[in-house]
Amino acid sequence: MNKIEDTIFKEGLREGNLLKLRKVSKADVHNHCGLGMRFSTFNKWAGGYVSEPPKKIDGIIGIDNYIFNETIKFISKEEDIVFLIEETVKEAIEDGVKVLESSIDCHNLMYFANNDKFFNTILNIRDKYNKSIDFRLEVGMSKSISNKDLNEMLIPCIDSGVFESIDLYGDETRDDFERFKEYYKHAKSKGLKLKAHAGEFQGAENVKKAIETLEIDEIQHGIGVSSNEYVMDLIKERNIRLNICPSSNYILGAVKNMNSYPARNLFDKGLRITINTDDLLLFNSGVSEEYLYLYKLGLFNEDELNEIRKFSLE
Ligand SMILES: [Zn+2]
Repeated sequence: MNKIEDTIFKEGLREGNLLKLRKVSKADVHNHCGLGMRFSTFNKWAGGYVSEPPKKIDGIIGIDNYIFNETIKFISKEEDIVFLIEETVKEAIEDGVKVLESSIDCHNLMYFANNDKFFNTILNIRDKYNKSIDFRLEVGMSKSISNKDLNEMLIPCIDSGVFESIDLYGDETRDDFERFKEYYKHAKSKGLKLKAHAGEFQGAENVKKAIETLEIDEIQHGIGVSSNEYVMDLIKERNIRLNICPSSNYILGAVKNMNSYPARNLFDKGLRITINTDDLLLFNSGVSEEYLYLYKLGLFNEDELNEIRKFSLE
C-alpha cells in the first residue's frame, strides 16, 4: 500500500490533482480544534451569519479580533464544543488525514456539567472515528490563561489520562515560558508529549527559551530559527520536530515572501519538519492543499514532500 500511496501522492502533486492527494495518508499535527473545520461548514451551522475571514489577517491580534467578532458568540454550550471537535475530525478524514493531533483548549471544561462529562465526551468522539483516523487528543492553553485556570482546568486535563500531548499558544511577545515550566514538568511526568508555539513571529531567541525552559519535544512553527545556526543545531541535537503551517504563516504576515519560505532552509539543515493546517477555518487550506502549495511554489520537489509526508505519519 505504501508504494501505491507514494505514486499517487507524487502524481497528485505533478498534476495539481487534489483528489489524488486527498486519497493518500497524511498527518496534521498542528491543528486547533476550535478552528479546525472549513469556514463554509461553520457558517452553515451558524445560520449563515458569519463573515468570511479576511484574505490577510494581522497576526494573533487579527485572529483574536475575528474570533471575538464572528465565531465565539455562537459557542455557549456543551453541544457547540462537540460540534467543533467532531467537525474538525470529520474534515481531517475527508482530507485523508490518518494522524490528527488537534489541540482542545482546557477552557472547554467550563461548558460541561463536570470534568468527567467533558473527558468522556471527547473520548467518545475519538472512539467513534477510530477506524478512519488516529485522533490523538491534545490539551491546549493560551498564554493569557490565569494561574487559577492553570490549576483548575489544565491540571485536571493533564491528570485525566485522556490527553497524549500538550500545547501552548497565543501572543508570542509574552515572554513568560517560565510561568508554564512546572505544568510542563507535570505533563511530562504523566507521559504527555510536550509542544509549544514559538518562532512564529519572533526569532530564534524565543524558540531557544521555549526549548530550554519547557524542554519541549516539538515546536509549533519555529520558522524564526532559520537564520540562527546555534538554535538550529540545538533543535537537531535534541531531535525536536518543527510542525510548520505555510498558509497560516503567509496570511498572518509571519512570512512576507513565500519564495523565501524558511521551511526549505530548515529541511536543508536536516531538521525534521511536518506540514500542517493550523486553523482551517481561517486559512481554508487542508493538508493536501498545503503540500500542493509548497510544490507549486517550487520550494520542494515531489520526492521531498513525500518524504516529509511519510515522516509526519511516524
Ligand atoms: Zn497554531
